[in-house]
Amino acid sequence: MSLHSKEAVGVRYTGWAALGRDPQEDTVEYNCPYCGERGMKSARRTHDQYHFTDGFLQDLQGEMAACRSCRHSLRIAPVVMLHDQDEKRRFEGVFSTELVSSN
Ligand SMILES: [Zn+2]
Repeated sequence: MSLHSKEAVGVRYTGWAALGRDPQEDTVEYNCPYCGERGMKSARRTHDQYHFTDGFLQDLQGEMAACRSCRHSLRIAPVVMLHDQDEKRRFEGVFSTELVSSN
């Protein structure tokens, strides 16, 4: 058990997902690694801080967040940018193990 913040994989939707949405509402979604609650925060980092890694545009440095449910602080890393349904499906296949390992 480490004193460092736990990490969660974040997802930032763009492209199709941003259609019909306020363009100012650019959010990163994640599942809290402490309580499993779904959360979101405003994306702080610009697109040029994302780089292609393992077939996805990712921000490996990530962002800090605090869970609104259990108040733990956590680190969202990597943040994966997804452009369409196809990428979303591929992402869920690749990251499914990380997404469910929440304790
Ligand atoms: Zn939580």
